[in-house]
Amino acid sequence: MSQKTDKQTIQTLLPGSTIGILGGGQLGRMMANAGSAMGYRFIALDPTPDAPTGQVAEQIVAAYDNHDAARELAKRSDVITYEFENVDADVAAMLMAESYVPQGSELLYTTQHRLREKRAIEAAGVRVAPYREIRSVDELREAVTAFGTPCVLKTAMGGYDGKGQWVIRSESEIEEAYETLARARVQLVLEQFIRFDKEISVIAARSPQGEIKVFPVAENIHVDNILHLSIVPARITEDLQQQAERLAERIAEGLGVVGLIAVELFVTADGELFVNELAPRPHNSGHYTMEACRTSQFEQHVRAVCNLPLGDTTLMSPVVMVNVLGEHVAPLLELTARADEAAKRLKVAPKLHLYGKKEAVVKRKMGHVNVLAETTDAALSWIEETTIWKV
Ligand code: AMP
Repeated sequence: MSQKTDKQTIQTLLPGSTIGILGGGQLGRMMANAGSAMGYRFIALDPTPDAPTGQVAEQIVAAYDNHDAARELAKRSDVITYEFENVDADVAAMLMAESYVPQGSELLYTTQHRLREKRAIEAAGVRVAPYREIRSVDELREAVTAFGTPCVLKTAMGGYDGKGQWVIRSESEIEEAYETLARARVQLVLEQFIRFDKEISVIAARSPQGEIKVFPVAENIHVDNILHLSIVPARITEDLQQQAERLAERIAEGLGVVGLIAVELFVTADGELFVNELAPRPHNSGHYTMEACRTSQFEQHVRAVCNLPLGDTTLMSPVVMVNVLGEHVAPLLELTARADEAAKRLKVAPKLHLYGKKEAVVKRKMGHVNVLAETTDAALSWIEETTIWKV
């Protein structure tokens, strides 16, 4: 048996073990907080000194593609995970050779590329928005004619929060859209525009032994392409919620996921579901689980990569998660320092999580608030009454 196969034999890591995280942002921080409470130790690799995860765990300060640093992470960890999906392929392969990486590198390879991801979702028997690979401006012209306008041109790699995308609203934009996105020098994909009624997401966890648990569906509202609110339960029919949950299970199974997979979906007015994209890690739309579910997405991720039985995902209360961006920090801190009359009407005080980022830059994700209430409407009313998130 090769050394690589030996390293990747399924292991159960009990509390006391050290979990290495590639990346030191807020997702790693919340993972380390949840896992530390269970008795695990954490070490993160991140280039920014005193990164959000480094404030609650050990940190190796180095670039993600620094092989010596990755090797040191492997040496000091019993198991390696990651908190972002754009992990360098060489680093992933090296870590697989030197350490135990139960999530493997194949899922990263798939989800780093929109075309590969769409093909994998379809192979699992799940629908995505109709799409075409685009290799030239002529192919784009043909595809726009086939789909009609509007349609969405996307880079296959490297886009996030709406970056690397162009909504083509008329045929006159074809050349400019192509030239602008082709500059990224990666493959392009054109998607039919889905006139969705709602955007939702489902997070599933799968252990190396194949146990799968799904969190309740979140309804997501974006502002300027950045997640603003996650509303749970999502305001869609019970039947659609169940369909979305089954579909996330199918993807977790079909793609051989270990750890978490976040599935973002569009819901049309006539109740059709299309997968938009996947993220193989804890997801912003799952932050509501921290106070509202019996097990948080972060604890579940730790359980899955350590091969422990997965936790109960039951929702204990209606909840709305609202993201705290740079511009929201000062008014929110002011509010926390004075009596909040509106909060007294809620069943639990709104729970603020801050990520320890030093500079409150406009649009930067600095934290989030989980608002638990008798109803999601009551939670939404509190958010509105604060006037902090007025858009
Ligand atoms: P993405 O980076 O792919 O998640 O896209 C960012 C946002 O653009 C999504 O949350 C949607 O609001 C919108 N969007 C992306 N693709 C489509 C599509 N095919 N049809 C309609 N809206 C889309």
